Amino acid sequence: MDGIIREGDLLLLLAPGGHTYLLPAEAREFHTHRDAVDLGAFLGRPWGSRILGRKGLPFYALRPTLYDHLMKVRRATQIIYPKEIGLILLKLDVRPGKTILECGTGSGALTLALAAAVGPEGRVITYEKEARFRKVARENLARAGLLERVIFREGVREDFGEKEADALFLDVREPWELLPAAWKALKGGAPFGALVPTVNQVSRLLEALEGLPFVALEVQEILERFYKVNPERLRPEDRMVAHTGYLIFARKVQE
Ligand code: SAM
Repeated sequence: MDGIIREGDLLLLLAPGGHTYLLPAEAREFHTHRDAVDLGAFLGRPWGSRILGRKGLPFYALRPTLYDHLMKVRRATQIIYPKEIGLILLKLDVRPGKTILECGTGSGALTLALAAAVGPEGRVITYEKEARFRKVARENLARAGLLERVIFREGVREDFGEKEADALFLDVREPWELLPAAWKALKGGAPFGALVPTVNQVSRLLEALEGLPFVALEVQEILERFYKVNPERLRPEDRMVAHTGYLIFARKVQE
């Protein structure tokens, strides 16, 4: 990482009009509906460079952040969004060297953030029952350079086949069915989290959590509102995503 764009580096191309594209840096022309740019002109230049398109409009090459990677994952399923992922990482205390279990890999959006946070010494063990989603998640992780930190497993029924995990997250339709297995897989005192889209599922999960040795139960919903970036007429965007899901957190205690 010497600050220079090299062939094959993934770049976030900021195009005229504000659209962004996640692309490998290579010698080829890239077209948007406003202009076209020679991507090869970025090679050998520093990150953040500006190249003018054929019509003279500016294109910028930015190094993709983790947020950019999350927003650009190929989606084969519903994904968990950055607003929830940020809190999940903190509540599950995901740090370098830890072992984190996750059930419901889906497209791998949360997996990607977990893999980034555990660092090269840590590992994420992720469970997905559908082979086609495991394939998409693998591709998304490989593109972000994080595949080697992730161990893929098939569906969970009675057991995760793991013990002493540092934290565990469930993003499946019926998380209450996996709670006894989750309890068995976690270290004493370790954090547990889940995301569900409906309040009915929250009730069901709370009832199940109350029936097992879990404490410090919390339910949260995170609302996010974007603003139009105009300093003279600063006001919220007209439309917003009103609902994604509810977050449930708890801690495992001994029986
Ligand atoms: N968290 C993912 C992301 O951010 O991309 C999305 C997960 S998606 C909403 C839920 C996934 O859980 C589906 O792909 C489904 O196949 C998987 N699933 C449901 N029950 C499962 C089980 N018992 N074991 C493994 N995977 C399961």
